[in-house]
This record gives sequence, structure tokens and C-alpha cells, in this order.
Amino acid sequence: MSSSTRRRELGRGERILPGVWRLRLPLPWPGIPHCNAWAVAAGDGVVLFDCGLHEPGSLAQLERAMAQCDLRLEHVRLLVCTHAHADHYGQAASVIDAGGCELWMHPEDAHMRAAIDNPDAVHARRLEVALQSGVPLAPLKEWSRSARERGSGVARLVEPDGELVEGVVVETDLGPWIVLETPGHAPSHVCLHQPDRRLLLSGDHLLGRVSLYFDFGWTADPVGEFLASLDKVAALDARLCLAGHARTFTDVEAHIEANRALVCERLERVLRAVAEHGPITAYDVVPLLYGQQLTQLTAGWWLPETLSYLRRLEVVGAVRRAGEEPERWLAA
Ligand SMILES: [Zn+2]
Ligand SMILES: [Zn+2]
Repeated sequence: MSSSTRRRELGRGERILPGVWRLRLPLPWPGIPHCNAWAVAAGDGVVLFDCGLHEPGSLAQLERAMAQCDLRLEHVRLLVCTHAHADHYGQAASVIDAGGCELWMHPEDAHMRAAIDNPDAVHARRLEVALQSGVPLAPLKEWSRSARERGSGVARLVEPDGELVEGVVVETDLGPWIVLETPGHAPSHVCLHQPDRRLLLSGDHLLGRVSLYFDFGWTADPVGEFLASLDKVAALDARLCLAGHARTFTDVEAHIEANRALVCERLERVLRAVAEHGPITAYDVVPLLYGQQLTQLTAGWWLPETLSYLRRLEVVGAVRRAGEEPERWLAA
């Protein structure tokens, strides 16, 4: 079925625990059918954690999911975004307009801000990185055209009222949720921990199914940051994870370990590719890493991920750049 005839999911809401509701919101992305927002009871309303992507009709899906839990946008007392990706922050402006609430988010949100403020510059930068990574010009032009057509998924830029930095507390009827900075997936990523009930709101840091994505180019070493964030979350001993996509899960430690194992496996595979085929471009590492060439569908995901592994290996002294155009990598 083409994407235009594919039956779209509808927003759905369900109670997970007394005072905790999962709002499952449809996404237009292939392979990622929905994301979650979480409503947690707070006084005469709720704190809403994340809010879904903005696109035509998306607010009605959020309202539909909330209505199934006897909630309305006017009940939102505070919007907390785990990170500044469109599927978690996109509808922030719409929620604030309807609910009149505050927005709290981590201040390292330049990766989203740039895409809204100056999409042309971000786009040009992405093209430059792709060319530098060895992506051939012909497919790149086509990929870049379709990426532009997809739009940002953000209703409009809204300034946060509060900064979700380490140790900040979000009060709810279930008790306080404590902010942990967990960069890696995105520079602005935070998790929220409710220690009495051993709950973890994990955003995209930990998902039920291991799925790695790194925002490349905003911080020094996204993979190293992600691994450190996994260690941090492992120390919490959380019992139930409320993730940014799909269902809740309980075996938090096993999920952390599975993420670590996949990152290590991919780092080893990239190192082997560089050692056996170097000097090699990031573009040519991709099929050796994933078993498939880069395509329009995977370029925005696999290229930053591959570059993030190369960067990690560079930081630990295992590979180096050969200093050519496009950039090629060698074992150190
Ligand atoms: Zn994300
Ligand atoms: Zn997400």
C-alpha cells in the first residue's frame, strides 16, 4: 500500500496505573507508526509529558486520545518535553495555546531551534555533511528534495518557561519526578525518575525495542554520551519504563544491557570495516555495517549513526581521518 492509502492509526488513550495515562498518537513515518505522550495526575489537572508531532489533524488525535481517558487539553497544567524532536515537542505550541500551561524542556535544544529558525541553513549543512561523507551527488539531490517536502513537524517555536536540567523536580500526585540529563539520542534529552514507585519516563533514551538514533554534529561524541546516559539510568533500579514509543516494559536492566550490546557490536563492525577497507568513507561503511546501501528512507538515520560511531572510535583513538575530500577513515 502506498503511504497515501495506508490506513492511518487513530489517537488512543489508556490508563496504565492509577493517575497515569498513555496517549498513543499516530505518526506519518514509515516503520514508526506512533509515539506516546504520558499524562500524570497533578492536582485538578495533569502534567503532560511529550505531546506528539504537528501535522494537519494531529491535535484532534491528541484530543481523541485524551478524551478516552476523560481528559481535555484544558486539564494540562504543565507540558514537559523529554527532548526537542518533532514527535515529542511538535505540538507544544498547540497544547500551550489550548491549555495555557507552561513548557519545561532542556536548554540544549539548538538542534531543533536551528531547523525551525533557519531550515535552509540546516539543510545546506546536512548536504555538506553528506557530500563530505561520500554520498554521491545524484541520489543526494533527490533525497534532499523529499526531506524538505516533509517539513519540520513542529507547529511553531515556543520558548520554554523552565529548564529541565539535572535534579529539577516535576511534582505530580504520584510524587516527584526527578530530571536526569541523558544526552546521546539528542543533546536535549532527559529522563524523569519517580523513585518511590520506581518509574522511569524514558523518552527515546530507552525503548521497548532497541532502536538507536543519534543527533550528529551538535555535541562532541553522541555515542559516548549515550553510553554514559545508559550507565546513569542503570543506577536508578527502575521497575517500570514509560517510553516515548510503544508499550511500557518492566525488565529495564535487560533493555539497558541490550542497548549497550548493540552499540558495542556496531562499534566493532565499523572498526573492522575501517581496518579492512580503509581509507574508507562513511558512505561506504554503511553497507558493511547494516548490510544495505544507504537509501532515501535510511539516509537521515544511518548516516548520522555511522558518523557517530566513527567519531566515537576517533575519540578513543581507534580510527583517524585521512584528510581527503570526501573524508576517508583509517585505523589509527
Ligand atoms: Zn527522538
Ligand atoms: Zn521519538
